Amino acid sequence: MTTTPSQPSPTPWAAIGPAAWPDAPAELTFSTLKEIEACPRRWALSTANYPSLWDGRGYPQRLQLGALAGTVVHAVLETITRELVSAGCPSVQDASAVAVLQRLGGLSQLVRRATDELLMRAKENPRAAKLMDYFTRTLRAQAPELRGRVQTTLARRVFPTKSPTGSGSTGRRGRGPLTAGVYCELDLRVPHLGWRGRADLLSLTPDACEITDFKTGDPSDDHALQLRIYALLWSRDGILNPSGCLATRLVLAYPQADVTVVAPAGAELAELETQLTSRGATARTAIAGHPPEARPSAEHCRYCGVRQLCETYWNAAVQERIRSEAQSEDQERSFVDIELTIERRHGPKSWDAAIHTGVHLVRGLLRTNGEIEFAPGQKLRVLDAAEAAADAESTGVRCLTLGTLSEVFVLSSSSA
Ligand code: SF4
Repeated sequence: MTTTPSQPSPTPWAAIGPAAWPDAPAELTFSTLKEIEACPRRWALSTANYPSLWDGRGYPQRLQLGALAGTVVHAVLETITRELVSAGCPSVQDASAVAVLQRLGGLSQLVRRATDELLMRAKENPRAAKLMDYFTRTLRAQAPELRGRVQTTLARRVFPTKSPTGSGSTGRRGRGPLTAGVYCELDLRVPHLGWRGRADLLSLTPDACEITDFKTGDPSDDHALQLRIYALLWSRDGILNPSGCLATRLVLAYPQADVTVVAPAGAELAELETQLTSRGATARTAIAGHPPEARPSAEHCRYCGVRQLCETYWNAAVQERIRSEAQSEDQERSFVDIELTIERRHGPKSWDAAIHTGVHLVRGLLRTNGEIEFAPGQKLRVLDAAEAAADAESTGVRCLTLGTLSEVFVLSSSSA
């Protein structure tokens, strides 16, 4: 991959859609289902391959600081849980846990290592290049808070001390019937349903089964449904659970508190299975079209990482609808997305432009930090530019400024 990311690097990417649309996934997960249901076009644009941009899978993601922090916390939770379970520690408060944590280098070291590994992976993402310094600085500064989130989540965990009789206590062991024990990062698969999921923690005793999912963000109703789906997948996974024993307790482990979810049984499981089959079939149909349907909305487009490629999003009427939805939901953004044509240089770091976003053509002034050059006639899609509303009101010219989080894409007539 030789292309560099957009502003402030010198060469903005072209807003070109995929050469081929992706096939439906062989197995659905809950997060994939939610992504497709929100907007089939977004799923397809994000999942398709872009070999001209990079060798990675899908469109290079736009990294979000909150998501990166959550990934670090989750990774450390997984590591510590796996090691505690493997050593037979009943909890992190137990005296035996001290040796485990020492062997791992201590909590601060674990957070630092998980952060470094994440940043190393992020370096492969060409879209993240210009923000790497910012992400690195900010994540390092957040280390004490991330450590605190791990500590509070772990403090409530109590693991059965009976060791599994299988070859290991994690989901990395070969798939086969599970015996009593604690299993981390356990893959649950039900081929005849076309579904899979990964349980963070499953504790199995002769008369009970508890599934725990670590959550690093704010609570959401979807979390409970996701956990109930894990309960269904566990009950139907004929390899891990040939006797079909049911989950008896479901726990969402948030940093601030545990939330217990009622485990489904009997008719509820059958109903859930029917619901998953039906929603899965609808989702697969939704992504069968080329391109799949776009479902623009203020909620879903706002954080869409491929909106620069989505023709529907830039339609003037759609832009108007999204703006009014955002106003009515009190979600007005301080940054704007703009489609414009560069007309001429205005100054060393500014360009006169004609703005197309909206029903009427409007004059614009695009300010940069001077590290990017444009050419008259170039049509651009600019994401997250700061707009000085007062200027537009007083002069009739919309003044846009590119900031650290802004992105610029050159529009191509072949975009999706
Ligand atoms: S911009 Fe909106 S409509 Fe377009 S792909 Fe993204 S979420 Fe869907």
